[in-house]
Amino acid sequence: MLPPKTNKAVWNKLSKLGIQTPEDLVLHLPLRYQDETRLYLIADAPVGQTVQMEGIVTHASVSYKPRKMFTVKMRDNSGTLALRFLHFYPSQSQTLVPGVTIRVNGEVRHGYYGAEIVHPQYRIVREHAPLAETLTPVYPTTQGLSQDTLRKLIADALASVSLDETLPETVLDTLQLIGFRDSIEGLHRPGPDISLALLEERAHPAWRRLIFDELLAQQLSMRQHYRQRRSRGATPLPSRGKLSQSLLASLPFPLTGAQKNVLAEISHDLEQSHPMQRLLQGDVGSGKTIVAALAACQAIENGYQAALMAPTEILAEQHYLKLSGWLQPLGITVDWLTGSLKKKEKQLALSRVASGETQLIVGTHALFQESVDFAGLALAIIDEQHRFGVHQRLALRQKGGEAHQLMMSATPIPRTLSMSYYADLDVSVIDELPPGRTPVTTRLIESSRRDEVFERVRNACLQGRQAYWVCPLIEESEALQLKTAFETYEHLLQTFPELNVGLVHGRQAAAEKAATMASFKAGELHLLVATTVIEVGVDVPNASMMVIEHAERFGLSQLHQLRGRVGRGAASSACVLLYQTPLSETASARLRIIYENTDGFEVARQDLALRGPGEFLGARQSGAPMLHFADPERDVDLLEQARATAERMLETHPAHAERHLERWLGQQQELLKA
Ligand code: ADP
Ligand code: MG
Repeated sequence: MLPPKTNKAVWNKLSKLGIQTPEDLVLHLPLRYQDETRLYLIADAPVGQTVQMEGIVTHASVSYKPRKMFTVKMRDNSGTLALRFLHFYPSQSQTLVPGVTIRVNGEVRHGYYGAEIVHPQYRIVREHAPLAETLTPVYPTTQGLSQDTLRKLIADALASVSLDETLPETVLDTLQLIGFRDSIEGLHRPGPDISLALLEERAHPAWRRLIFDELLAQQLSMRQHYRQRRSRGATPLPSRGKLSQSLLASLPFPLTGAQKNVLAEISHDLEQSHPMQRLLQGDVGSGKTIVAALAACQAIENGYQAALMAPTEILAEQHYLKLSGWLQPLGITVDWLTGSLKKKEKQLALSRVASGETQLIVGTHALFQESVDFAGLALAIIDEQHRFGVHQRLALRQKGGEAHQLMMSATPIPRTLSMSYYADLDVSVIDELPPGRTPVTTRLIESSRRDEVFERVRNACLQGRQAYWVCPLIEESEALQLKTAFETYEHLLQTFPELNVGLVHGRQAAAEKAATMASFKAGELHLLVATTVIEVGVDVPNASMMVIEHAERFGLSQLHQLRGRVGRGAASSACVLLYQTPLSETASARLRIIYENTDGFEVARQDLALRGPGEFLGARQSGAPMLHFADPERDVDLLEQARATAERMLETHPAHAERHLERWLGQQQELLKA
C-alpha cells in the first residue's frame, strides 16, 4: 500500500490512474520531458521547441481590451520576451512584478509585437539558482493531481521500492537488454545528454527494456493460463476418418487448401488428452462451417457429443439446417436448442442431450445453461466467438470445462494483436476464399440519390436475383430502430409493387423469423428488409445485392460482415452504401476504408489503426492484460522475443516469472484468471 502520509484524496486520484501500490508508481512512466537543465537566451530560443529562459521582469500590466489579459515583459542579455495570460489568478499579478527574476518554460512565437509566449510555465527564482540535473518528466495525470505531487510521490517510491532484476541473466545477454534499475531510473530521471527524440519515440534502450517487460508480463500471464487449462485432462478423439470421409464425399465441392490445413491442425488437437483451445479465423464466406462439421464428426465417431453455439437465433437455426442437411444422411442425430423453444420441445431436446441420443446439438447460449446436462460432451464449437460476452464464455468453460474448444471468428484479428492479446489460444487461419466467388463491388451513394438505387434493385430482382435492404442502425433506441424498420418496409412495399418483399428484425418471434428466412432462401421473396440481425453468418448464395442505409452509422467490422452476405454465389454482386451528408471525419474515413478494401484482414488492420486496440478488442479486454507502453505493431520485434522468452522462462526460471508477474500485474492477476 501507499505510504501513510499519502492522504486519501491523493490516493483516490492515483487509483484513477490505475496506481495502487508504490510499485505501480515506479511503473508510471513519463509521457514526455521538459528540459530544465539549461537556459536559452531569448534571442536564441529555437522555434517550435519548448525551452527554458531566465530574465528579469521589466513590466507587468492587466489590460481589458479586447478582453481581460495579464501581460508581463521580461528581459535577459539578448532581448525581451512578452508573456501573456488570458486566465490568471490575482496572486499571479501580485507576485509577477518588475524586478523579480523568473524562469520560463515554453515555446517562443514571433508575433506582431515581437517574441512572446502565451500561458508559459514559470517560476520565480533567485538569480543563478541551480539548474535541474536531469530532464523533468511530465507524467500522465488526472485532474487535481499536479505534476509536482506526482514527481514527489514517484521519487519517494523509487527510493523505497526494490528495483530488483526479474529477467534471468541469459535473457538480458541474448536480447541485449539493459537492466531494470538502469532503465527505470533512466526513464524517470534522464540525464541532460540523452536524446529527447529517441526517448519520445520510445526507441531508447531504456524504453525498449520496459516495453519488453510489459509485453513479457502479458505473454507470461496468458501463457500461464494456457498451460493451466492444458494441464487438465480431456478425452482424446483419435481421427478415424470414417464419418468425415463420407461427409466429404457427399459435398458438391472439394475443400480449399486452407480448409484442409486448418482441419489438420484441429484434428491433431482433438487427438490429444488435454483440451484444445483453438481460435479459427477466416474472413466471411471462407467456409468455416464445414470445418466445424468435420471436427464434430471426429468427436461423434468416437462415441461422444459435440455442441455448436451461435450468437443469434437466426444463425443457430441456419446452422442447424445446414448441419443436419450434411450430417443426418450419415446417420448422425442433430438437434437444436434455443431460448425461444416451446417448453415441451425444450424438455424433449434436453432429455435427448442428457441421454446421449443427440450427437450434435446446435443452439444459442441456452446450450450452456445450468439445466443442460450432456451425456458426453467432448467438443464445444463457438461460432462468431467475438459476439459472446465474458459471462457466456465463463458459463461455457464451467459447463464444458473438459471439452475441446474450437472458437470461430469472422472478424479477422491482425497478426500482431493475435500474438499479443490472444496469446492464450492457438490460432488457425483460413486465408483463402473458395474458388468461383466474384468480388463484391462496393458503391458509395449519397442518400439523396436513392431513386437510382431503387432502379438497380428492381432490375436485379426482375432478373431473378435477390437483395437485402439493411435498415438504419439506431443504437440509442431499440423502439426507434424498430419503428424505422417498419417504415422502411412499408415504403419499399409501395416502391416495389411488382416484387415480393419480406421483413426480419430482432423482435420477431423465432418462428416468424425462421419462416421469413426460409422463404427468402427458397427464392420466394425478392427483397429482404432487415435490421442487423442478418449481420452474422446468414448464407443465401442467390442474394447478390445489398443496400445499407445510413452506412455512416455502422462500425467497420459490421459493414464488412454485412457486405459478406452477398458475393456468395457465381453472380457478380454489389453492395450499395447509402450515406447522409454531412459526414463526420471518422465516418468518412470508415466509408473510405470499406470502399477501398475487400479483404477482411486489411479492413481489420485499418479499423485497428482508426480505433486503437481498446475498442477493437471489446470484451477481450477483460481477459487479457492491456498494454500501456508497448504498441504491438511498432514493437513487433520485441513482441516476438517476449513470446519466445515467456514460454522458456516458465520452464527454466519459474521464480523469475512469478516475480515479473507480481511487479507488472500485481493485484490484477487474480482478476485476469476469470
Ligand atoms: P463462413 O466462414 O463465413 O462461416 P460459410 O461456412 O457459411 O462461411 O461458407 C460460405 C459458403 O461457402 C457456404 O455456402 C458454404 O457451403 C460454401 N463453401 C464452403 N467451403 C467451400 C469450398 N471449399 N468450395 C466451395 N464452396 C464452399
Ligand atoms: Mg459462419
